[in-house]
Amino acid sequence: MRVLIASEPGRPERDNEDFAAAAPGLLLVVDGAGAPAGVESGCAHSVSWYARNLGGLLLAAASDVALGLDEALAVSIERVNALHATTCDLGHPGSPSATVALARVGDGRLEHLVLSDSVLVLDRLDRGPTVITDDRLAEVIARLDEPDGHSPVGSDEHTGLLRSRVERLASYRNQSGGFWVASTKPEAADQALTGSIPLAELDAVALLSDGASRLVDRFQLMTWPDLLGVLRKAGPGELVARTREAESTDPDGMRWPRGKASDDASAVYWAVQDLASPNL
Ligand SMILES: [Zn+2]
Repeated sequence: MRVLIASEPGRPERDNEDFAAAAPGLLLVVDGAGAPAGVESGCAHSVSWYARNLGGLLLAAASDVALGLDEALAVSIERVNALHATTCDLGHPGSPSATVALARVGDGRLEHLVLSDSVLVLDRLDRGPTVITDDRLAEVIARLDEPDGHSPVGSDEHTGLLRSRVERLASYRNQSGGFWVASTKPEAADQALTGSIPLAELDAVALLSDGASRLVDRFQLMTWPDLLGVLRKAGPGELVARTREAESTDPDGMRWPRGKASDDASAVYWAVQDLASPNL
């Protein structure tokens, strides 16, 4: 199984809060999120610590085929909790969190799980892309009734708006009627979007953090078939490079309003015909 992976921080000097990985039969993207500077989280650890530990434990749990992918995610959230229950306040609404896209190959099928705004794209033979992502977070943000217009990324006004958004989102996070992410509540895994497809119907699969899907879903500079074409012909590194190029033309976020000028970007791509290994 030959899997292509690219994962880069938004800025070279910053931690990469994404975690992208593959293991025999498994593909994974985790996109960590946390409180902005100056907002309490109740946790002594970094967001990248959370994403790496959740990701590593999830690869281990999902390798047990007796567990559904949602069960594997619930177990992994509990295991990360156990790593910092004695040092951190796991009941704090600002605790580090993550979105997840996960796929598992076995018995002639690909199973998938998506929690929150990571994106999983099934490139289906003869039918083109099926895009799986959970837009409940975007729906909640749309309901927040934020002021019209937008300010340059990095300005005091923009920073203040982001901070206020994060504080207001806390009361919707992992609540029914709100949005669901991996954090400290294992029951969030029940809210993930899950499904499976026969490998015989599949050309390829792509797993993307929202920093790597933005050329399509935020900037509208390409279509999903275009994005799959870039991955197929040039690989995930090229997708990230094109994303950085587009971001650099709009450093203030005035054309494409966004939280950060450049976000961590991760893409994992597997073409089914590269099923060379029996080790699935
Ligand atoms: Zn902690």
